[in-house]
Amino acid sequence: MKPLDKLVRPNILKLKPYRCARNEFTGHAEVLLDANENPYNEPYNRYPDPLQRDLKKAVSAVKHVPEECIFLGNGSDEAIDLAFRVFCEPGKDNVVAIEPTYGMYQVSADINNVEYRPVELESDFSFKAEKLLNATDENTKLIFLCTPNNPTGNLLPYDEVVKVLESFEGIVVIDEAYSDFSKKKTFRSELAKYPNMIVLNTFSKAWGCAGIRIGMAYASKHIIDIFTNVKYPYNINELSQREAMAIIAKNFDVDKWVNIILGERVRLMDSVSILPYCTKVFPTDANFFLARFGNAQSVYDYLVSCGVIVRNRSNVVLCKDCLRITVGSPADNTKLLAAMRKYRS
Ligand SMILES: *Cc1c(COP(=O)(O)O)cnc(C)c1O
Repeated sequence: MKPLDKLVRPNILKLKPYRCARNEFTGHAEVLLDANENPYNEPYNRYPDPLQRDLKKAVSAVKHVPEECIFLGNGSDEAIDLAFRVFCEPGKDNVVAIEPTYGMYQVSADINNVEYRPVELESDFSFKAEKLLNATDENTKLIFLCTPNNPTGNLLPYDEVVKVLESFEGIVVIDEAYSDFSKKKTFRSELAKYPNMIVLNTFSKAWGCAGIRIGMAYASKHIIDIFTNVKYPYNINELSQREAMAIIAKNFDVDKWVNIILGERVRLMDSVSILPYCTKVFPTDANFFLARFGNAQSVYDYLVSCGVIVRNRSNVVLCKDCLRITVGSPADNTKLLAAMRKYRS
């Protein structure tokens, strides 16, 4: 890896971050007259903790990542955007990512005026590190790897990802938004080994909290400190911090949800794969799967007419005639299957 101060943009290295009242005084006091808050309307009259210390402690305990290595953002999308703003000089640097993958990497690249270099997976969605590394040059700052990948559902082979981590001189962002649905080894457990790695997690999927907008980035303390300097001071509001603490305390429920979803995933995939108009169901390690049909648009339109919405991925590279189907509740899944069994092309 190149030294961090060669990877981070010079203006970010030089940045003197904003210090808010809740940064300057962090203890407990009886009288708080430092932040121009209203004394009425407790508890929401007070600014939230800008460093989300209690929540990081709770996340640390369940994800086994040291608190100082955790960044919390307004969804993973905030961490993705920060990676661009911290590392990529607009109009000069570039990033490399697998294709197809999560759309936000490219959107963030475009917003930040950073060249985005997509590298296609093989036709069975398998991944070769060498092909990806060949697309990098001296101005490549970030590589994005999503595993399990969205929209394809598959895990990238562990050893191929390690090859990228070990050979690439810049930062490798590994998006593990769906890792709770997989039994395989995660990269967040290998943080200490790879100083050039940023791992993304989210409250939006297994933890059932897409509405409160919290995503995590795990990385070395150096990288996390820079992200913290660049983020909006109060990027996670008090309501979201409280709700996030509550869901972590309900860890048992989350495990139960994940187990039900994994069982339903098998049922759905088995049932869809035997439909006469389904030509392929792709293997998955996530809470969704990709399936190919004779005419995906027609199946999609029919399902809409039945009040069931799936995601049409037909126009995505390598995903011609594919629908991405999220595993829902047992009742949702039963309705989907009942509708699909009645489809006539
Ligand atoms: C859903 C998803 C996320 C979650 O994004 P949030 O902003 O945290 O809701 C992140 N990465 C991938 C690949 C996803 O599919």
